[in-house]
Amino acid sequence: MSNDAAVSNEEMDVNARREVTEVREFTSGERVEVIIIGGGIGGLSAATALTQKGLTVRVYERAREFGEVGAGMQIASNCTRILDDLGLLDEAKSLGVVPDRMTMRDAIDARPLLDMDLRKVEERYGHPYMVIHRSDLHGIFLRAAQRQGVELRGGMKAVAYDNVDGSARVTFEDGSTDEADVVIAADGIHSVARPSIVQDEPVSSAYVAYRGAVPIELAAENDIDPTAVQVYVGPGCHFVQYALRAGEMFNQVAVFESPKALAGQDDWGTPDEMDAAFEGTCDQVQKGLPLMWRDRWWRMFDRDPIMNWLNGRIALLGDAAHPPLQYMAQGAIMAIEDGWVMAQHVERNRTGDGKVDWDAVLAAYNAVRPEHCRRILSTGRVWGELWHLRGEERLARNEVFDDLDVHEWKFTDWVWGPTALFPGDEPAMYQPIPIG
Ligand SMILES: Cc1cc2nc3c(=O)[nH]c(=O)nc-3n(C[C@H](O)[C@H](O)[C@H](O)COP(=O)(O)OP(=O)(O)OC[C@H]3O[C@@H](n4cnc5c(N)ncnc54)[C@H](O)[C@@H]3O)c2cc1C
Repeated sequence: MSNDAAVSNEEMDVNARREVTEVREFTSGERVEVIIIGGGIGGLSAATALTQKGLTVRVYERAREFGEVGAGMQIASNCTRILDDLGLLDEAKSLGVVPDRMTMRDAIDARPLLDMDLRKVEERYGHPYMVIHRSDLHGIFLRAAQRQGVELRGGMKAVAYDNVDGSARVTFEDGSTDEADVVIAADGIHSVARPSIVQDEPVSSAYVAYRGAVPIELAAENDIDPTAVQVYVGPGCHFVQYALRAGEMFNQVAVFESPKALAGQDDWGTPDEMDAAFEGTCDQVQKGLPLMWRDRWWRMFDRDPIMNWLNGRIALLGDAAHPPLQYMAQGAIMAIEDGWVMAQHVERNRTGDGKVDWDAVLAAYNAVRPEHCRRILSTGRVWGELWHLRGEERLARNEVFDDLDVHEWKFTDWVWGPTALFPGDEPAMYQPIPIG
């Protein structure tokens, strides 16, 4: 069996532990102002943000139930700031963990490379850096959307999108259609709407992620630090650890380059490849590996950045617009930012009679979000290369990291600071440091 970041949630349903929050479905049938396709974190967070601005929203999801597959995720201050604005931060804090530190070590000799005090992150950016189970984050948005009257319809697969007379229409697999002022395609990396905007394909990185979230007692003997996010970077691999669910669970992610993928074989990313990739890593990593789930894995794909996310009244959002490699831990955050930014522009673009000037809203969204996400996607690729360096380059990287002061903030201000609403608000990026 192969699991794949480019494989849909629906396909993964068959074997993955899908945590589902009970859904009371609304089926009013009345015309709504916004239709969202995709009930993942991107779609539901956009529904939450837009209904808070007084819009009527309907979300269609192809899976019968709304849920999330996977384990933990990191949410930086640019996300917790938005959760706070939406009134959801306290709930997130009660379900997640606010770690004290983030450390990076070499995966071979466990030499410390970086050590960031995350309490200082909160002082700097006004909001915490957190970790949370992805089904808990998804559940927070699902419950908020339900409370705010969002119509939720499961078992509806979108197959086509059209622009019609100042509105947009979506057609479903069962032949039915629905129309609204705007249709947001939050349908993930294989978005059905994206080909009407750009002809491109997911790009394979030849890297695979294994995950594992287990009761923390199982990791108690493993030299872990439940108060920290710990990252071990090694040649062609890395390993991440942190506690979840108020410290009751322990989450680990093991990522490595697959020789079978590089050789063009279809059957890549299998557990034997994981075992081989982490041979020679330090004790802390070796102790953690037996706790990984070995029956599913996520092949890492992204897409090249694109600078237009609109086709008339059809707008891409989340992974449909900007699927990243996950090294910046910003994929879900970018999706949450997208919907929040669109909602801020709805507020700013209501005409005298209370109607929304959608052309202005979408233009403002498209002016600011693609450039920010382009930066994250491009930096994510470079960041991954830096983590996975081998031989002399690995040692040279370690020297550079030794000299870095992470509390100078020049590497984080552009991403963890406030989400820009206008292109002029987008902060300058840091100057890259040459390695070697
Ligand atoms: C190993 C790993 C670790 C990660 N860690 C982090 C992290 O720490 N922090 C972070 O911010 N991000 C992280 N990410 C990235 C993050 O998971 C994604 O960027 C995010 O989940 C994207 O959300 P989305 O709602 O846009 O897309 P998806 O989660 O893909 O949701 C799309 C939804 O649309 C539905 N759908 C698809 N097609 C149709 C259709 N035709 N009709 C109707 N519905 C449809 C799907 O069923 C699904 O529910 C990580 C990713 C991976 C793989």
